[in-house]
Amino acid sequence: MITAETLEALKSALGPKGWCTDPDELAPYTRDWRGRWQGETPILLKPATTAETAESVRICAAAGISITPQGGNTGLVGGSLPQGEVLLSTARMKQVRDVDTANDSLTLEAGCILETIQTVAADNDRLFPLSLGSQGSATIGGLISTNAGGVHVLRYGMMRDLVLGLEAVLPDGRIWKGLRGLRKDNSGYDLKQLFIGAEGTLGIVTAATLKLFPRPSEITAAFAGIPSPSAAVELLGIAKAASGGTLSALEIIPRNALDLVLKHIPGSRDPLAAAHPWYVLLEIGAGRLGEGRAAMEAALETGFEKGIVEDAVIAGNEAQALALWQLREPIAEAEKAHGKAAKHDVSIPVSKIAAFIEEGTAIVERMAGGAEVIAFGHVGDGNVHFNVMRKTEGAGEDFVASILPVTEAIYGLVQTYGGSIAAEHGVGTLKSGDLAHHRPLEVELMKSIKSALDPDGIMNPRVLIPRG
Ligand SMILES: Cc1cc2nc3c(=O)[nH]c(=O)nc-3n(C[C@H](O)[C@H](O)[C@H](O)COP(=O)(O)OP(=O)(O)OC[C@H]3O[C@@H](n4cnc5c(N)ncnc54)[C@H](O)[C@@H]3O)c2cc1C
Repeated sequence: MITAETLEALKSALGPKGWCTDPDELAPYTRDWRGRWQGETPILLKPATTAETAESVRICAAAGISITPQGGNTGLVGGSLPQGEVLLSTARMKQVRDVDTANDSLTLEAGCILETIQTVAADNDRLFPLSLGSQGSATIGGLISTNAGGVHVLRYGMMRDLVLGLEAVLPDGRIWKGLRGLRKDNSGYDLKQLFIGAEGTLGIVTAATLKLFPRPSEITAAFAGIPSPSAAVELLGIAKAASGGTLSALEIIPRNALDLVLKHIPGSRDPLAAAHPWYVLLEIGAGRLGEGRAAMEAALETGFEKGIVEDAVIAGNEAQALALWQLREPIAEAEKAHGKAAKHDVSIPVSKIAAFIEEGTAIVERMAGGAEVIAFGHVGDGNVHFNVMRKTEGAGEDFVASILPVTEAIYGLVQTYGGSIAAEHGVGTLKSGDLAHHRPLEVELMKSIKSALDPDGIMNPRVLIPRG
C-alpha cells in the first residue's frame, strides 16, 4: 500500500505535468487494447527525462512499492497493466537524441512511436525495418521490452537484432548507460539482451540506439490465392531463391480472415476475381529499380507452373501495395470487431507449419463446436497467429474461458512440433503460468536473473515469471 508521503515525494519529484490520479485521465492507461483486462493504479507517473525516471524508481524502491512500465499500451498479453502498482508511462520521453548516418544508427528515447522512428529514418534516406499493425501507437521501449517482431522479420530479424545499445533505469534507480552504437563489442555478457524481451521485469528502458539499413529502391508487393498452407511454404522457398535475399515479407491469410477484413474494415476490397481458400502477401525490397518486379513475376510464374498459385496480382504502385497491406494489417482489428477470441501467438519451424495448422484445426473441430480457426501471420519466419473464434459475432470473455482446454491442447501440439507458445507478443500475465509449465528450468533460470537485478521484486511483478 502506497503511503501519502510516498505519493507526495513522487509528485514533487516530477512536477505538475509528471503525474496524474484523475480516474477519467487514467482510464486509457488501465484498459488493454483488446478490452480484456482492467488494471488499477494509485498514480500514473509521466517522467520527461531519464533522470526523472531514475528519481521515481528510487522513491518507489525506498518505499518498497512496485512499478509497471508502460509505453503505447498496445501489448496483447496484459504486461502493461498495473494491478495496484505505480504505473510509469514513457509518453513524455520522445526525444530523438542522435542520427548518425555514417554509422547507420539512430538514438532515441523510449517513448518515441514506431511510425516516428520510421519517418526519421526515411528523412535521412535510411530504413528502420520494423513494421507492425500497432505502429501508430507502439513505442520503442515497449517494442524492445517485448522483443517485437512484425512483418519484416524474415529479412531483418526481430527487435533483438535491431538494437545496438540501451540506456535503462535499474530497479534500485541507478542508470545503466549502454548506448553504444557498436556492431562489435565482445566485452563479456551482452547485458542489453537481458532487457530486450524482459517485459519491464528488470528495469525501465529509457533510450536505445537502433540499426538503420539502406532504403530499397523499389518495394514490390503481390497478393496470391493459393490452395493450402503447404503451398505458402513451398512458395516461400521459390520466392527466396528468385529474389536473392531481398524477400522482406511472406504473410499467410486464410479466406475467413479476409472475409472479416472485408466486412469490418472500411475501404478494403478483394483484389482477386474469385475466392480462394488461402492467400499469401509477398513483399520484395530490391536495391535496383525493376529487379523486385522481375523477381516477383518469376516466383509467381513458377508457382503457377507448380499449381501452388491459383491467381495473383502484383501492385503497380505504392498506393496499390498499401491497399494490399490493408488486407493483412487490420486482421486483429477485424477480429476484435467480430468478438473476443482465444489467441495463440505461436512459432513452429517453417517446415512444419502446414502440418501444425492442419492438426491444430482438427483439435479445434473436435473440442470446440461452434468455433473456427483463423490461422494467419508471418509464415516467412514461422510465426502463426492460431486464433480460435466463435463463428457467430459477439463472443465475450465466457467464450475465451470455454476455450481454455483447447488452448492447453494447442500448446501441447506446439511442444510436439518443437515450437514456442510465445512467438512475438511476449508472455505477460496471460502466459506466465503456461511458460512455467512448459519450460520449468528456463523459468527457474530467469528467476535467478530477476533476483540478481531486482532482489526486492519491484519491477513489473506477476509478469513473465509467476510469483512464488
Ligand atoms: C493491432 C495490433 C497489431 C500488433 N501486431 C504485432 C506484430 O505484428 N508483432 C508484434 O511483435 N507485436 C504486435 N502487437 C503487439 C504490440 O504492439 C507489441 O507488443 C509492442 O511491442 C508493444 O509496444 P507498446 O509501446 O505498446 O508497449 P506496452 O503495451 O505499453 O508494454 C508492453 C510490455 O513492455 C513493458 N514496457 C513498455 N515500455 C517499457 C519500457 N520503456 N521499459 C521497460 N518495459 C517497458 C510493459 O511493462 C509491458 O510488459 C500488435 C498489437 C496490436 C494492438
